[in-house]
Amino acid sequence: MAFDFDLIVIGAGSGGVRASRISAGHGARVAVIEESRPGGTCVIRGCVPKKLLMYGSAFSADAADAAGYGWQVSVDGHDWPALIAAKDAELDRLEGIYRSLLKNAGVELIEGRGVVTGPNSVNVGDRELTAERILVATGGWPQIPDVPGLAKHAITSNEALDLAERPDSVLVYGAGYIAVEFASIFNGFGIETHLVYRADLPLRGFDQDIRSQCAEALAGRGIILHPGCTVERVEGENGRKAVTLSDGTVLAVSEIMAATGRVPNTAGLGLETAGVKLGRKGEVMVDAGSQSSVPSIYAVGDVTDRIALTPVAIAEGHALADTLYGGRPRQVSHDNVPSAVFTQPPIASVGMSEEQAAEAFDEITVYTSKFNAMKNALSGRTEKTFMKLIVETASDRVVGAHMLGPDAGEIMQGIGVAVVAGATKADFDATIGIHPTAAEEFVTMRTPRG
Ligand code: NDP
Repeated sequence: MAFDFDLIVIGAGSGGVRASRISAGHGARVAVIEESRPGGTCVIRGCVPKKLLMYGSAFSADAADAAGYGWQVSVDGHDWPALIAAKDAELDRLEGIYRSLLKNAGVELIEGRGVVTGPNSVNVGDRELTAERILVATGGWPQIPDVPGLAKHAITSNEALDLAERPDSVLVYGAGYIAVEFASIFNGFGIETHLVYRADLPLRGFDQDIRSQCAEALAGRGIILHPGCTVERVEGENGRKAVTLSDGTVLAVSEIMAATGRVPNTAGLGLETAGVKLGRKGEVMVDAGSQSSVPSIYAVGDVTDRIALTPVAIAEGHALADTLYGGRPRQVSHDNVPSAVFTQPPIASVGMSEEQAAEAFDEITVYTSKFNAMKNALSGRTEKTFMKLIVETASDRVVGAHMLGPDAGEIMQGIGVAVVAGATKADFDATIGIHPTAAEEFVTMRTPRG
């Protein structure tokens, strides 16, 4: 049977664009369908705009630190609309780049909503397209818990990046990546920021020490933490939101942001009709080769609910394209994926938490270091940098590395290479430090924690 395309990709985000371009480069006839803007979550409403706002919000702390170095600087009078406009212009530029990348690769971009109508067919508007294979790369979307008034009054990360005016107070609900990052952004812009979360510490799943250091650091920066609390009710009053917490506190804020997790974007996509098995959260269930229960339908990225990180989606998309069209079958390892949380100060880690390592191995050795970064000596900032290495005692292999402190994300990328390569603690010890840096602490920790 002749198909219109070899591959139809639904979703022009990080994973979909990479899979499309590489497949086309290998000679496949590819179409990518996008209902919003090419670039997807990361470029349009995630990593990129978030990090631009994070850079913007960091200047207040930089200015405060500068005083200790003799500078008389102030960062009053922030022009919020100017920042949002500059950010939007950058996103337009990046969207343009994504469009040309697709065009130059020979991928046909079809704008509209794609709905799967069978193992080899997709409907877009009034067009019915056929392909030998379909790749679902539709990402995820914020979910809002069923709490009276919350969905009506809350913004999510989508809207938080586009606020027309700087709010004077924000309550962020949740304590995952998105919640703590946005709380840091708001706080850095001088906005009164409340972080409300049901657990005792932020960042469930992270190393316990990192979680407690994170709470300490966020509070130290001025974020008002409400651990062990849920939002019970939200009411609108005179343009403000009255938020009732489970401990009885009522907070009046200008914005409430729900950062309570994301769900895979499969609603109304027609996948069940085509026989594709979905999981509990609606995720496309795939095997290690990203193939769904229907052999001609594949999925990569957040929609599979494996690891919801851009570089993972890109790696999955690239591996799939090489496997299907490049004669180079391969799978992506989901072990030892480094990641960073762009709080202020940032957090980064690779490998196992102490808790996971204690479960996995008979014996582990843990090294920690908590110190005052040299820059603080003159700035007067009291915030501590924290680092941790987890070693499997029998093999001496470093199985986890964690950091909270300036440049954590930049530092962890290199440590990630070492951990992926299976470096031992002896290898770390044999590496000469770069002095004076904070990073050198990773190669100078000698005394195990008692
Ligand atoms: P997360 O799963 O990381 O966090 C969700 C948060 O919402 C948790 O604190 C969770 O609480 C809370 N929560 C969930 N359901 C409820 C509920 N019903 N009531 C109250 N609280 C609730 O999701 P995010 O949306 O923050 O991020 C999604 C993913 O996106 C991340 O896991 C990450 O993979 C990726 N991401 C990565 C970034 C980076 O690399 N820097 C940045 C942003 C996102 P609890 O812990 O108690 O379950």
